[in-house]
Amino acid sequence: MVSAQVIWAKALPVLQEEMTPTSYTTWVKDIMPISVEGNTLILMAQNEMYLTTLRQFYSAIVTDCVNKANNSNYTVSFIVKEEAEAAVSVPTHGERGAGVFFGVQSKYTFDTFVTGESNRFAHAAAVAVADNPASAYNPLYIYGGSGLGKTHILHAIGNYVHEMHPEFNICFVSSEDFTNDVIAAIKYDTREELRKKYRNLDLLLVDDIQFIGGKEATEMEFFNTFNALHGANKQIVITSDQRPNDLPFLQERLRTRFSWGITADIKPPEVETRVAILKSKAERDNVDISNDALLFMAEQFSANVRELESCYNRVVLYADFSKRGSIDRGFVELVLKDYVSSEGKHMVTPELIKQVTADYFDITVEELVSTRREKRVSTPRHIAMYLCRTLTDTSYPDIGRAFGGKHYSTVMYACDQVAGEIGQKIDIATAVDDITNRLTNDLTIK
Ligand code: ADP
Ligand code: MG
Repeated sequence: MVSAQVIWAKALPVLQEEMTPTSYTTWVKDIMPISVEGNTLILMAQNEMYLTTLRQFYSAIVTDCVNKANNSNYTVSFIVKEEAEAAVSVPTHGERGAGVFFGVQSKYTFDTFVTGESNRFAHAAAVAVADNPASAYNPLYIYGGSGLGKTHILHAIGNYVHEMHPEFNICFVSSEDFTNDVIAAIKYDTREELRKKYRNLDLLLVDDIQFIGGKEATEMEFFNTFNALHGANKQIVITSDQRPNDLPFLQERLRTRFSWGITADIKPPEVETRVAILKSKAERDNVDISNDALLFMAEQFSANVRELESCYNRVVLYADFSKRGSIDRGFVELVLKDYVSSEGKHMVTPELIKQVTADYFDITVEELVSTRREKRVSTPRHIAMYLCRTLTDTSYPDIGRAFGGKHYSTVMYACDQVAGEIGQKIDIATAVDDITNRLTNDLTIK
């Protein structure tokens, strides 16, 4: 779970942009983030007078900006100091009522995870750990390429354990959020709270550990957290894009610990598994689609389930849009004709993508690569990053560099977001298709 400090730190620049300087300085600048309780962000006002005004006049804009900056759906609640002292309640061991359950997404479960040769071992290890936390394998370390189901399995373990042991304290955290929590704890001098949050867990699920590499304070904090939990016989599950020994930067002692339990890899799924994944989605979505059409899609995307899903979502969206009852192979071919084959990839460059995307949205390339957050420029930026990822072989860090030196986790996040929206928003899907068309047509003209 992201801490209140991190959420608020992200919201401040947006508030500053949206408010007049006077009202920002008078009313917002000195608000203190206190905690997150479920879906509510708790903020502390300086005194009763501020409290009344904030509640009455600024609640809406603060809520909007918090959610815009964090891409979230929090409700904001203002309190004053006395209440704040009562509000910071940190879960402790021994209180065996409902445990804390942070950050786990309910949609990713073992039920919806399709197994095949490529992921059978990782899946079996995950189920074993979920059945017997801290006694089967500790830690469980799962690694593999992007879009192969690591995050899905991690959430699935969280959901399963929560169901079996509602009293367990469970937390899912990306290593980026863990890093942000550590930075905020140093900045706001709340290291004690940070420790309480992470060291009282029964199950800690850490996604994409490769991103904490190289940050000393974070590595140290993670090392200590790991030792505290492992020593207390609490389960830790970690995912990564690499095996422990190949992790860059990471301190040797941390790497060694990652190999204490069991290491399981996930490989790209075989074609039968890819078809089975699509079939299970279609059944859940109640979509009428021929086997031929599923096989055709599965043949186009072999190395990444996320891209396969994104393609499926796009096909379903277009079918819905054109009021089609059933989907056959011809329709899929029609929808996918704008996809650039991997052979065409080397012809499109990030520079070209930036130019064409900026033109398409009628903004400048400078705006596109800036840090500005208004939708007018941030949506095109996310789309351009996504296109760099799908139409070229550029890595996340290199895309970040091409967009004004953004961190690669920002790029990953943008790409994931667009991949999701393509299946949900027709304007995003159309923009991606139109820009792809322009890019490929430009190339054929030349
Ligand atoms: P990773 O974390 O390895 O990059 P994710 O767990 O985010 O990948 O998976 C990407 C998408 O593909 C998710 O929507 C996930 O549900 C889906 N997915 C991946 N593997 C499977 C699988 N074996 N069965 C069902 N869905 C899968
Ligand atoms: Mg992931």
